[in-house]
Amino acid sequence: MKILIINAGSSSLKYQLIDMDNENVLAKGNAERIGIKDSLLTHEVIGKEKFKISKNFNDHTEAIKEVIKTLISADKGVITDMSEIGAVGHRVVHGGERFKESVLIDDEVMDAIRANIDLAPLHNPANIMGIEACMKIMPGVPMSAVFDTAFHQTMPREAFLYAIPYESYLKHGIRRYGFHGTSHKYVSLRAAQILNRPIEELKIVTCHLGNGSSIAAVKHGKSIDTSMGFTPLDGLPMGTRSGSIDPAIVSYLMEKEDLTIDETSEYLNKQSGVLGISGVSSDFRDLADAAADNVERAKLALEVFNYKVKKYIGEYAAAMGGIDCVVFTAGIGENTPAIREESCQGLEFLGIKVDPVKNNSKEIQTSKEGIVSTDDTPVKVLVVPTNEELMIARETINLLK
Ligand code: AMP
Repeated sequence: MKILIINAGSSSLKYQLIDMDNENVLAKGNAERIGIKDSLLTHEVIGKEKFKISKNFNDHTEAIKEVIKTLISADKGVITDMSEIGAVGHRVVHGGERFKESVLIDDEVMDAIRANIDLAPLHNPANIMGIEACMKIMPGVPMSAVFDTAFHQTMPREAFLYAIPYESYLKHGIRRYGFHGTSHKYVSLRAAQILNRPIEELKIVTCHLGNGSSIAAVKHGKSIDTSMGFTPLDGLPMGTRSGSIDPAIVSYLMEKEDLTIDETSEYLNKQSGVLGISGVSSDFRDLADAAADNVERAKLALEVFNYKVKKYIGEYAAAMGGIDCVVFTAGIGENTPAIREESCQGLEFLGIKVDPVKNNSKEIQTSKEGIVSTDDTPVKVLVVPTNEELMIARETINLLK
């Protein structure tokens, strides 16, 4: 069966068509600037050259129509008819407490996703637009919703509750939800496979380090804690996000800098993180270049980031009562040996030691997958390329069964 994976943003729509008979990606692409002038569809048939189609998409429905048209076109297509798409898997950011796993979408599910808009005001409305557009164009085709938050719904209450009046949880749903759940689930399962051990016996710390970063404690296949919280601003410092800070800084800053609520949110979400510390860039490649040129604040940003990653690994080893494996994934985790090595430095007392030769090997750089710890240490350190689309497709197939 062929499954179309949709990741809809407010003005963009990423897609992949996956043949689940062999899990091969047939085509993928991205529609950008939807509802804005000069929209653009970039489409790639795997193994062939990418090409771009400039066409105005007034809304997500027009964008998806063009995606389907391209997928079935004689010259750029990979299928002959829309009926070959057996199901559509949608990435949905926030499932709140209602969704503990992926679901097939019906009216009641749509209402529940809408009810979570308050918790993800930027993301859920865009995801809903993507689902509604697909339903309009492909009526009768089964659709699933796979939530970023669902994998973390197994967190125990002592991990998800903030120490503010309990009424804030009851009344407003203020608690840790966690994000990147699909990625943490995928890489923890893959790590168990690589180690050839049942996930039910493993204590894994998964480090999803990208432009947005989060770490999870995956004990026996279940997330028991994670660094992102009520929103994706919590936890590690990121490209432009502050991560966890003393909450009293917020009111102090607002007063000192005369900031409005929106300006404060912009400050913490867009001007902070490694960009804020370094003053150089939010991109870790730029930071590495600047650090090599001895730009002191770029070095400092990397030091702060590595230190926080290290602390989470230690914290989660404590939370799980042990650790068997650390997994690095996403843009930074997969591509930056120095971050893997430096964030694990000093964790030898836990049995964690990165082997510099394996970690910098051509093999790992090319495949982005493998074990990079020394042979004589009990804890395995792994690099695993994340694949959220494939995870969504697998969840969708399972739901159809
Ligand atoms: P993501 O959000 O997973 O796409 O990750 C984005 C981050 O990964 C950026 O900070 C990039 O600098 C970093 N990144 C992506 N590709 C590479 C690469 N080939 N080498 C080093 N860093 C990379």
